[in-house]
Amino acid sequence: MKKPPILWTNVLVFTLTFVIALIGVPAYGYYYGFSSVHLIATILTLGYAGMSITVGYHRLWAHKTYDAHPFLQFILALGGAFALQNSALHWSSDHRIHHKFVDQNDKDPYSAKKGFWFSHIGWMLRDYQGNSYSDYSNVRDLQKNKIVMWQHRHYLLLSILMNFGIPIVLGIIFNDIWGMLLTVGVLRLVLSHHFTFFINSLAHIWGSQPYTDKNTARDNGLLALLTYGEGYHNYHHIFETDYRNGIRWYHFDPSKWFIKTASYLGLTSNLRKVPEDKIAAAKLTMQKYKTESKLTSLELPDHHEIMAKLEAEYELMIEKIKSYSQAKRQLLAAKKQKASEAVISELQHTMQQLKQQLAKQQTQWQQIRMQYA
Ligand SMILES: [Zn+2]
Ligand SMILES: [Zn+2]
Repeated sequence: MKKPPILWTNVLVFTLTFVIALIGVPAYGYYYGFSSVHLIATILTLGYAGMSITVGYHRLWAHKTYDAHPFLQFILALGGAFALQNSALHWSSDHRIHHKFVDQNDKDPYSAKKGFWFSHIGWMLRDYQGNSYSDYSNVRDLQKNKIVMWQHRHYLLLSILMNFGIPIVLGIIFNDIWGMLLTVGVLRLVLSHHFTFFINSLAHIWGSQPYTDKNTARDNGLLALLTYGEGYHNYHHIFETDYRNGIRWYHFDPSKWFIKTASYLGLTSNLRKVPEDKIAAAKLTMQKYKTESKLTSLELPDHHEIMAKLEAEYELMIEKIKSYSQAKRQLLAAKKQKASEAVISELQHTMQQLKQQLAKQQTQWQQIRMQYA
């Protein structure tokens, strides 16, 4: 099959910036030197560009996991132009297709099944989308968003203004225009590009699959460090409406922390979270699948009995998870409605009991799993 034509603008931008970052930046540093100001400015602007993509393009516009004040949307739209990854409208359209048809080589725009190079950058180097490039039928909601459409219409101008403007202004302030153009301009852009691209490539190749193996998405704590929390991609692909990607408090997810902190300032609202029991059930089902396939490979004489036992323990686990979460919700509702102390303590007692039962069942579940792990 004939390959689609090469998109020379993209090839040139990616190649030139990469070469300058690799050779030009160290050479300038060698002859003229960089100071800590360059380093700090590069890190801060890298964070601004990267988080505009994760907090803005990804979690706000593509997935609508929360609502944002127009002021924050404006800042994110500018940061998105600074990150140079196409307009929020186009990016979100591509991304929604990616989720809907994940891993389907003919539909997923950056299908990981086509390999690392393609899903990382290759998909942008040729005109693979052809006629469907301007089909925005899956982002009609965003077409009603004034800020998204303003950014889309003036995308080229905004990206030039941001990518040259910010380094030049910093260069004037700190008296090194070329140094800032190289670091905050080029080096920041290259790092920002590739860190984000890792989400489409590495986060679909490298890591664990605790929630689902129906697609290639992986959870990878290391990758979360470079991607502002988007390394928990296995979770994200199964629960895309959650504003968090790393759901535990200790998961490195600065995008989640930013969205949550902004909610206290009134800049974000309606933060959507998947209920804990639903998450636990998905994880449990995945554990069951893994144990089942292990058991099948072992070909034990009492295979059917063990399978039946596993199934029974699984059902019990689901039941316990459900009743515990229900009790938790009831308690929360009672507290909200300012119920009497007697009612609350009764509910608390029930919840504690159910919690203990769940813990006991959990031990049993782990035992049967570990036996055949
Ligand atoms: Zn997504
Ligand atoms: Zn993905």
